[in-house]
Amino acid sequence: MGKVPNCRFCNSSLQHTLVDLGMSPLCESFLAADQVNRMEPFYPLKVYVCGRCFLAQLEEYVSPENIFTEYAYFSSYSDSWLQHAKNYTELMIERYKLDQKSQVVELASNDGYLLQYFVQKGIPALGIEPAKNVAQVAIEKGISTITEFFGVELAQKMAKDGTKADLLLGNNVLAQVPDINDFVAGMKITLKPGGVITMEFPHLIRLIQENQFDTIYHEHFSYFSFLVVEGIFAAHGITLFDLEELNTHGGSIRIYGRHAEDESKPVSGKLLEMKNRELAAGYDKMEVYAAFADRVVETKRKLLKILIKAKEQKKRIVGYGAPGKGNTLLNYCGIRNDFLEYTVDRNPYKHGRFTPGTHIEIFPPDRIWEDRPDYLFVLPWNLKEEIIKQMSFIKEWGGVFIVPIPEPEVVSDF
Ligand SMILES: [Zn+2]
Repeated sequence: MGKVPNCRFCNSSLQHTLVDLGMSPLCESFLAADQVNRMEPFYPLKVYVCGRCFLAQLEEYVSPENIFTEYAYFSSYSDSWLQHAKNYTELMIERYKLDQKSQVVELASNDGYLLQYFVQKGIPALGIEPAKNVAQVAIEKGISTITEFFGVELAQKMAKDGTKADLLLGNNVLAQVPDINDFVAGMKITLKPGGVITMEFPHLIRLIQENQFDTIYHEHFSYFSFLVVEGIFAAHGITLFDLEELNTHGGSIRIYGRHAEDESKPVSGKLLEMKNRELAAGYDKMEVYAAFADRVVETKRKLLKILIKAKEQKKRIVGYGAPGKGNTLLNYCGIRNDFLEYTVDRNPYKHGRFTPGTHIEIFPPDRIWEDRPDYLFVLPWNLKEEIIKQMSFIKEWGGVFIVPIPEPEVVSDF
Protein backbone atom coordinates (compact mmCIF):
# COMPACT_ATOMS: atom_id res chain seq x y z
CA MET A 1 0.00 0.00 0.00
CA GLY A 2 1.26 3.45 -0.93
CA LYS A 3 0.41 6.56 1.03
CA VAL A 4 -3.19 7.67 1.26
CA PRO A 5 -3.90 10.47 -1.27
CA ASN A 6 -5.92 13.62 -0.57
CA CYS A 7 -9.18 14.68 -2.21
CA ARG A 8 -8.52 16.88 -5.24
CA PHE A 9 -11.42 19.14 -4.27
CA CYS A 10 -11.58 19.41 -0.45
CA ASN A 11 -8.13 18.00 0.43
CA SER A 12 -9.42 15.47 3.03
CA SER A 13 -7.47 12.24 3.12
CA LEU A 14 -9.14 9.53 1.03
CA GLN A 15 -10.00 6.60 3.30
CA HIS A 16 -12.74 4.88 1.28
CA THR A 17 -12.46 2.77 -1.87
CA LEU A 18 -15.30 2.84 -4.40
CA VAL A 19 -13.82 0.04 -6.47
CA ASP A 20 -10.38 -1.41 -7.14
CA LEU A 21 -9.95 -2.71 -10.71
CA GLY A 22 -6.34 -3.77 -10.19
CA MET A 23 -3.46 -2.76 -12.43
CA SER A 24 -4.20 -1.63 -15.98
CA PRO A 25 -2.36 0.02 -18.89
CA LEU A 26 -3.72 3.28 -20.38
CA CYS A 27 -6.85 2.24 -22.24
CA GLU A 28 -6.06 4.04 -25.51
CA SER A 29 -2.49 2.69 -25.78
CA PHE A 30 -3.09 0.14 -28.54
CA LEU A 31 0.09 -1.75 -29.45
CA ALA A 32 1.67 -2.20 -32.86
CA ALA A 33 2.94 -5.71 -33.65
CA ASP A 34 6.55 -4.80 -32.79
CA GLN A 35 5.52 -3.51 -29.35
CA VAL A 36 3.76 -6.63 -28.15
CA ASN A 37 6.85 -8.25 -26.65
CA ARG A 38 8.09 -5.11 -24.91
CA MET A 39 7.39 -3.93 -21.38
CA GLU A 40 4.14 -2.08 -20.90
CA PRO A 41 3.43 0.39 -18.09
CA PHE A 42 0.54 -0.61 -15.80
CA TYR A 43 -0.99 1.74 -13.24
CA PRO A 44 -3.46 1.12 -10.41
CA LEU A 45 -7.09 1.61 -11.41
CA LYS A 46 -8.44 2.25 -7.95
CA VAL A 47 -11.25 4.72 -7.38
CA TYR A 48 -11.61 6.39 -4.00
CA VAL A 49 -14.59 8.27 -2.70
CA CYS A 50 -14.06 11.22 -0.39
CA GLY A 51 -15.76 10.77 3.00
CA ARG A 52 -16.27 14.52 3.32
CA CYS A 53 -17.40 15.82 -0.11
CA PHE A 54 -18.18 12.47 -1.86
CA LEU A 55 -16.13 13.20 -4.96
CA ALA A 56 -15.22 9.84 -6.53
CA GLN A 57 -11.70 10.01 -7.92
CA LEU A 58 -8.57 8.29 -9.10
CA GLU A 59 -5.18 9.33 -7.95
CA GLU A 60 -3.20 11.10 -10.69
CA TYR A 61 -0.80 8.29 -11.64
CA VAL A 62 -0.22 9.55 -15.13
CA SER A 63 0.08 13.27 -15.82
CA PRO A 64 -2.28 14.88 -18.34
CA GLU A 65 0.82 15.99 -20.27
CA ASN A 66 1.57 12.31 -20.87
CA ILE A 67 -1.97 11.34 -21.77
CA PHE A 68 -3.24 14.29 -23.75
CA THR A 69 -0.35 16.00 -25.49
CA GLU A 70 -0.56 13.57 -28.40
CA TYR A 71 -3.98 11.97 -28.36
CA ALA A 72 -5.63 9.40 -30.61
CA TYR A 73 -9.23 10.44 -30.05
CA PHE A 74 -10.82 12.62 -32.72
CA SER A 75 -14.40 13.63 -31.92
CA SER A 76 -15.32 14.11 -35.58
CA TYR A 77 -15.11 10.34 -36.24
CA SER A 78 -18.45 9.81 -34.53
CA ASP A 79 -21.55 10.81 -36.55
CA SER A 80 -23.87 10.73 -33.57
CA TRP A 81 -21.52 12.95 -31.55
CA LEU A 82 -21.37 15.49 -34.40
CA GLN A 83 -25.16 15.60 -34.51
CA HIS A 84 -25.22 16.09 -30.74
CA ALA A 85 -22.80 19.04 -31.11
CA LYS A 86 -24.85 20.61 -33.90
CA ASN A 87 -28.08 20.38 -31.91
CA TYR A 88 -26.32 21.96 -28.95
CA THR A 89 -25.05 24.98 -30.94
CA GLU A 90 -28.54 25.64 -32.33
CA LEU A 91 -30.02 25.46 -28.85
CA MET A 92 -27.45 27.89 -27.43
CA ILE A 93 -27.70 30.43 -30.28
CA GLU A 94 -31.45 30.49 -29.85
CA ARG A 95 -31.58 30.50 -26.05
CA TYR A 96 -28.82 33.08 -25.46
CA LYS A 97 -29.23 35.12 -28.66
CA LEU A 98 -25.60 34.66 -29.67
CA ASP A 99 -24.44 36.72 -32.67
CA GLN A 100 -21.38 38.29 -34.35
CA LYS A 101 -20.68 40.32 -31.20
CA SER A 102 -20.64 37.28 -28.88
CA GLN A 103 -17.62 35.22 -27.88
CA VAL A 104 -17.81 31.44 -27.46
CA VAL A 105 -14.93 29.61 -25.75
CA GLU A 106 -14.71 25.83 -25.60
CA LEU A 107 -12.40 23.99 -23.20
CA ALA A 108 -11.00 20.77 -24.72
CA SER A 109 -12.27 21.75 -28.15
CA ASN A 110 -10.70 18.66 -29.75
CA ASP A 111 -10.65 18.84 -33.56
CA GLY A 112 -13.23 21.63 -33.76
CA TYR A 113 -16.13 19.14 -34.05
CA LEU A 114 -18.42 21.57 -32.19
CA LEU A 115 -17.03 25.08 -32.70
CA GLN A 116 -17.28 24.64 -36.49
CA TYR A 117 -21.05 25.07 -36.17
CA PHE A 118 -20.64 28.44 -34.38
CA VAL A 119 -18.06 29.54 -36.96
CA GLN A 120 -20.50 28.63 -39.76
CA LYS A 121 -23.01 31.05 -38.21
CA GLY A 122 -20.41 33.83 -38.01
CA ILE A 123 -20.16 33.70 -34.21
CA PRO A 124 -16.61 34.27 -32.89
CA ALA A 125 -15.32 31.04 -31.35
CA LEU A 126 -12.08 30.15 -29.59
CA GLY A 127 -10.96 26.62 -28.72
CA ILE A 128 -8.55 25.57 -25.98
CA GLU A 129 -7.04 22.18 -26.79
CA PRO A 130 -3.75 20.91 -25.34
CA ALA A 131 -3.39 17.90 -27.68
CA LYS A 132 -1.33 19.49 -30.45
CA ASN A 133 -2.05 16.89 -33.14
CA VAL A 134 -5.81 17.21 -32.54
CA ALA A 135 -5.74 21.04 -32.26
CA GLN A 136 -3.91 21.21 -35.59
CA VAL A 137 -6.93 19.71 -37.35
CA ALA A 138 -9.16 22.43 -35.87
CA ILE A 139 -6.76 25.18 -36.90
CA GLU A 140 -6.73 23.82 -40.46
CA LYS A 141 -10.54 24.09 -40.44
CA GLY A 142 -10.18 27.78 -39.59
CA ILE A 143 -11.03 27.55 -35.89
CA SER A 144 -8.82 29.68 -33.61
CA THR A 145 -7.28 27.34 -31.05
CA ILE A 146 -4.88 27.82 -28.13
CA THR A 147 -2.82 24.65 -27.56
CA GLU A 148 -2.39 24.85 -23.79
CA PHE A 149 -3.92 23.38 -20.65
CA PHE A 150 -6.63 25.59 -19.17
CA GLY A 151 -6.50 26.97 -15.63
CA VAL A 152 -6.08 30.24 -13.73
CA GLU A 153 -2.80 31.09 -15.44
CA LEU A 154 -4.16 30.82 -18.98
CA ALA A 155 -7.45 32.51 -18.00
CA GLN A 156 -5.51 35.52 -16.68
CA LYS A 157 -3.41 35.68 -19.81
CA MET A 158 -6.57 35.56 -21.96
CA ALA A 159 -8.23 38.26 -19.83
CA LYS A 160 -5.22 40.53 -20.36
CA ASP A 161 -5.69 40.10 -24.12
CA GLY A 162 -9.37 40.95 -23.71
CA THR A 163 -10.74 37.43 -24.22
CA LYS A 164 -13.73 36.61 -22.04
CA ALA A 165 -16.69 34.38 -22.87
CA ASP A 166 -20.41 34.95 -23.27
CA LEU A 167 -20.68 31.17 -23.58
CA LEU A 168 -17.99 29.02 -21.95
CA LEU A 169 -18.42 25.32 -22.54
CA GLY A 170 -16.69 22.02 -21.96
CA ASN A 171 -17.88 18.54 -22.89
CA ASN A 172 -16.32 15.54 -21.17
CA VAL A 173 -13.41 17.58 -19.88
CA LEU A 174 -14.31 18.04 -16.21
CA ALA A 175 -13.49 14.40 -15.46
CA GLN A 176 -10.10 14.74 -17.14
CA VAL A 177 -8.79 17.64 -15.06
CA PRO A 178 -6.44 16.72 -12.20
CA ASP A 179 -6.51 20.15 -10.51
CA ILE A 180 -10.22 20.77 -10.54
CA ASN A 181 -10.03 23.85 -8.28
CA ASP A 182 -7.59 25.60 -10.60
CA PHE A 183 -9.72 24.69 -13.61
CA VAL A 184 -13.02 25.99 -12.20
CA ALA A 185 -11.33 29.09 -10.76
CA GLY A 186 -10.05 29.75 -14.29
CA MET A 187 -13.61 29.48 -15.62
CA LYS A 188 -14.76 32.13 -13.14
CA ILE A 189 -12.12 34.48 -14.63
CA THR A 190 -12.97 33.73 -18.29
CA LEU A 191 -16.75 34.11 -17.93
CA LYS A 192 -18.14 37.59 -18.76
CA PRO A 193 -20.39 39.13 -16.05
CA GLY A 194 -23.63 38.06 -17.81
CA GLY A 195 -22.15 34.95 -19.44
CA VAL A 196 -23.21 31.30 -19.27
CA ILE A 197 -21.19 28.15 -18.63
CA THR A 198 -22.33 24.73 -19.86
CA MET A 199 -20.55 21.48 -19.10
CA GLU A 200 -21.40 17.88 -19.89
CA PHE A 201 -20.02 14.92 -17.97
CA PRO A 202 -21.02 11.30 -17.28
CA HIS A 203 -23.31 11.07 -14.26
CA LEU A 204 -21.87 8.98 -11.42
CA ILE A 205 -25.34 7.85 -10.42
CA ARG A 206 -25.80 6.19 -13.81
CA LEU A 207 -22.34 4.63 -13.59
CA ILE A 208 -23.16 3.05 -10.23
CA GLN A 209 -26.78 2.11 -10.88
CA GLU A 210 -26.03 0.63 -14.30
CA ASN A 211 -22.81 -1.05 -13.24
CA GLN A 212 -20.71 0.80 -15.85
CA PHE A 213 -17.41 0.08 -14.09
CA ASP A 214 -15.58 -0.25 -17.41
CA THR A 215 -16.04 3.50 -18.02
CA ILE A 216 -13.43 4.00 -15.30
CA TYR A 217 -10.03 4.72 -16.83
CA HIS A 218 -6.87 6.59 -16.02
CA GLU A 219 -7.87 9.51 -18.25
CA HIS A 220 -10.92 10.06 -16.03
CA PHE A 221 -9.62 11.45 -12.76
CA SER A 222 -13.05 12.34 -11.30
CA TYR A 223 -16.63 10.92 -11.31
CA PHE A 224 -19.41 13.34 -10.36
CA SER A 225 -22.84 13.30 -8.83
CA PHE A 226 -24.82 16.50 -9.26
CA LEU A 227 -24.50 17.24 -5.53
CA VAL A 228 -20.71 17.18 -5.75
CA VAL A 229 -20.47 19.24 -8.92
CA GLU A 230 -22.76 21.92 -7.53
CA GLY A 231 -20.52 22.17 -4.45
CA ILE A 232 -17.36 22.51 -6.54
CA PHE A 233 -18.75 25.33 -8.69
CA ALA A 234 -20.27 27.11 -5.68
CA ALA A 235 -16.85 27.09 -3.98
CA HIS A 236 -15.57 29.17 -6.90
CA GLY A 237 -18.42 31.68 -7.07
CA ILE A 238 -20.41 29.97 -9.81
CA THR A 239 -24.09 29.16 -9.30
CA LEU A 240 -25.64 26.32 -11.29
CA PHE A 241 -29.08 27.35 -12.54
CA ASP A 242 -30.26 24.68 -14.97
CA LEU A 243 -29.55 21.11 -16.05
CA GLU A 244 -30.48 18.54 -18.65
CA GLU A 245 -30.12 14.77 -18.57
CA LEU A 246 -28.57 13.28 -21.71
CA ASN A 247 -28.11 9.75 -22.98
CA THR A 248 -24.56 10.30 -24.24
CA HIS A 249 -21.69 8.25 -22.78
CA GLY A 250 -23.94 5.89 -20.84
CA GLY A 251 -25.86 8.77 -19.21
CA SER A 252 -24.60 12.33 -18.77
CA ILE A 253 -25.78 15.62 -17.34
CA ARG A 254 -25.38 19.05 -18.86
CA ILE A 255 -25.15 21.78 -16.25
CA TYR A 256 -25.66 25.50 -16.76
CA GLY A 257 -23.69 27.93 -14.61
CA ARG A 258 -23.45 31.70 -14.11
CA HIS A 259 -21.69 34.11 -11.77
CA ALA A 260 -23.18 33.90 -8.26
CA GLU A 261 -23.71 37.68 -8.51
CA ASP A 262 -25.73 37.43 -11.75
CA GLU A 263 -29.31 37.16 -10.55
CA SER A 264 -30.83 37.68 -14.00
CA LYS A 265 -31.00 33.89 -14.46
CA PRO A 266 -33.26 32.18 -11.91
CA VAL A 267 -32.44 28.69 -10.63
CA SER A 268 -34.61 26.02 -12.25
CA GLY A 269 -36.72 23.65 -10.19
CA LYS A 270 -34.94 20.78 -11.96
CA LEU A 271 -31.93 21.30 -9.67
CA LEU A 272 -33.87 20.72 -6.50
CA GLU A 273 -35.54 17.72 -8.09
CA MET A 274 -32.16 16.22 -9.04
CA LYS A 275 -30.71 16.87 -5.59
CA ASN A 276 -33.69 15.25 -3.93
CA ARG A 277 -33.34 12.26 -6.19
CA GLU A 278 -29.65 11.84 -5.35
CA LEU A 279 -30.29 12.33 -1.62
CA ALA A 280 -33.14 9.81 -1.68
CA ALA A 281 -30.80 7.30 -3.34
CA GLY A 282 -28.24 7.91 -0.59
CA TYR A 283 -25.43 9.61 -2.52
CA ASP A 284 -24.56 11.71 0.53
CA LYS A 285 -23.78 8.60 2.60
CA MET A 286 -21.02 6.03 2.29
CA GLU A 287 -23.25 2.88 2.10
CA VAL A 288 -24.31 3.27 -1.52
CA TYR A 289 -20.68 3.71 -2.59
CA ALA A 290 -19.48 0.82 -0.44
CA ALA A 291 -21.92 -1.63 -2.08
CA PHE A 292 -20.63 -0.99 -5.60
CA ALA A 293 -17.37 -2.97 -5.36
CA ASP A 294 -19.18 -6.23 -4.51
CA ARG A 295 -21.43 -5.89 -7.54
CA VAL A 296 -18.42 -5.37 -9.80
CA VAL A 297 -16.67 -8.52 -8.53
CA GLU A 298 -19.89 -10.46 -8.98
CA THR A 299 -20.16 -9.23 -12.58
CA LYS A 300 -16.64 -10.45 -13.27
CA ARG A 301 -17.48 -13.92 -11.94
CA LYS A 302 -20.73 -14.10 -13.96
CA LEU A 303 -18.98 -13.05 -17.14
CA LEU A 304 -16.17 -15.55 -16.66
CA LYS A 305 -18.72 -18.31 -16.02
CA ILE A 306 -20.31 -17.62 -19.41
CA LEU A 307 -16.92 -17.63 -21.14
CA ILE A 308 -15.67 -20.76 -19.35
CA LYS A 309 -18.85 -22.65 -20.17
CA ALA A 310 -18.57 -21.72 -23.85
CA LYS A 311 -14.94 -22.79 -24.01
CA GLU A 312 -15.73 -26.10 -22.28
CA GLN A 313 -18.24 -26.72 -25.04
CA LYS A 314 -15.42 -26.07 -27.55
CA LYS A 315 -17.11 -22.92 -28.83
CA ARG A 316 -15.19 -20.12 -30.51
CA ILE A 317 -15.53 -16.59 -29.09
CA VAL A 318 -14.39 -13.40 -30.79
CA GLY A 319 -14.84 -9.76 -29.83
CA TYR A 320 -16.74 -6.95 -31.52
CA GLY A 321 -15.20 -3.49 -31.05
CA ALA A 322 -12.04 -2.26 -29.36
CA PRO A 323 -13.21 0.78 -27.36
CA GLY A 324 -11.27 2.24 -24.42
CA LYS A 325 -13.85 0.84 -22.01
CA GLY A 326 -13.33 -2.63 -23.47
CA ASN A 327 -9.74 -2.49 -22.30
CA THR A 328 -10.72 -1.75 -18.71
CA LEU A 329 -13.09 -4.72 -18.84
CA LEU A 330 -10.65 -7.16 -20.47
CA ASN A 331 -7.79 -6.27 -18.14
CA TYR A 332 -9.89 -6.37 -14.98
CA CYS A 333 -11.50 -9.69 -15.88
CA GLY A 334 -8.25 -11.22 -17.18
CA ILE A 335 -9.73 -11.99 -20.61
CA ARG A 336 -6.98 -12.71 -23.12
CA ASN A 337 -6.50 -15.05 -26.09
CA ASP A 338 -7.54 -18.00 -23.95
CA PHE A 339 -11.12 -16.69 -24.32
CA LEU A 340 -11.18 -14.18 -27.17
CA GLU A 341 -9.37 -15.27 -30.31
CA TYR A 342 -9.36 -11.73 -31.69
CA THR A 343 -11.62 -8.70 -31.94
CA VAL A 344 -12.80 -6.53 -34.85
CA ASP A 345 -13.28 -2.77 -35.14
CA ARG A 346 -14.37 -0.30 -37.81
CA ASN A 347 -11.54 2.17 -37.08
CA PRO A 348 -8.72 1.45 -39.57
CA TYR A 349 -6.16 2.94 -37.14
CA LYS A 350 -6.67 -0.09 -34.92
CA HIS A 351 -6.34 -2.80 -37.57
CA GLY A 352 -3.25 -4.95 -37.05
CA ARG A 353 -2.82 -3.49 -33.56
CA PHE A 354 -3.31 -5.25 -30.24
CA THR A 355 -5.37 -4.33 -27.16
CA PRO A 356 -3.18 -2.89 -24.37
CA GLY A 357 -2.36 -5.36 -21.62
CA THR A 358 -4.39 -8.26 -22.98
CA HIS A 359 -2.80 -8.34 -26.48
CA ILE A 360 -5.87 -9.35 -28.45
CA GLU A 361 -5.39 -8.63 -32.14
CA ILE A 362 -7.79 -6.27 -33.94
CA PHE A 363 -9.10 -6.99 -37.46
CA PRO A 364 -11.62 -5.34 -39.82
CA PRO A 365 -15.24 -6.50 -39.19
CA ASP A 366 -15.36 -8.51 -42.48
CA ARG A 367 -13.44 -11.26 -40.78
CA ILE A 368 -16.55 -12.28 -38.79
CA TRP A 369 -18.37 -13.09 -42.00
CA GLU A 370 -15.52 -15.27 -43.28
CA ASP A 371 -14.71 -16.89 -39.94
CA ARG A 372 -18.18 -17.72 -38.56
CA PRO A 373 -17.45 -17.73 -34.80
CA ASP A 374 -20.02 -19.12 -32.33
CA TYR A 375 -20.04 -16.14 -29.96
CA LEU A 376 -19.61 -12.43 -30.62
CA PHE A 377 -18.58 -10.57 -27.46
CA VAL A 378 -19.88 -6.97 -27.69
CA LEU A 379 -17.37 -4.65 -26.00
CA PRO A 380 -19.08 -1.27 -26.74
CA TRP A 381 -22.26 -2.38 -24.89
CA ASN A 382 -23.60 1.20 -25.08
CA LEU A 383 -24.10 0.56 -28.82
CA LYS A 384 -25.46 -2.97 -28.42
CA GLU A 385 -28.78 -2.43 -30.23
CA GLU A 386 -26.98 -0.98 -33.24
CA ILE A 387 -24.34 -3.73 -33.27
CA ILE A 388 -26.75 -6.62 -32.82
CA LYS A 389 -28.80 -5.27 -35.70
CA GLN A 390 -25.74 -4.78 -37.90
CA MET A 391 -24.27 -8.21 -37.13
CA SER A 392 -27.53 -10.19 -36.98
CA PHE A 393 -26.30 -12.29 -39.94
CA ILE A 394 -24.35 -14.47 -37.45
CA LYS A 395 -27.71 -16.16 -36.90
CA GLU A 396 -27.12 -17.93 -40.23
CA TRP A 397 -24.61 -20.24 -38.60
CA GLY A 398 -26.18 -20.28 -35.13
CA GLY A 399 -24.02 -17.46 -33.74
CA VAL A 400 -25.07 -15.58 -30.59
CA PHE A 401 -23.94 -12.44 -28.72
CA ILE A 402 -22.42 -11.94 -25.30
CA VAL A 403 -23.15 -8.56 -23.70
CA PRO A 404 -21.15 -7.89 -20.50
CA ILE A 405 -22.84 -4.81 -18.97
CA PRO A 406 -25.06 -4.06 -16.99
CA GLU A 407 -25.31 -7.81 -16.34
CA PRO A 408 -23.44 -10.40 -18.37
CA GLU A 409 -25.89 -12.14 -20.69
CA VAL A 410 -26.02 -14.30 -23.78
CA VAL A 411 -28.33 -12.79 -26.40
CA SER A 412 -29.68 -15.45 -28.74
CA ASP A 413 -33.07 -13.92 -29.56
CA PHE A 414 -32.53 -11.22 -32.20
ZN1 LIG B 1 -13.38 15.72 -0.81
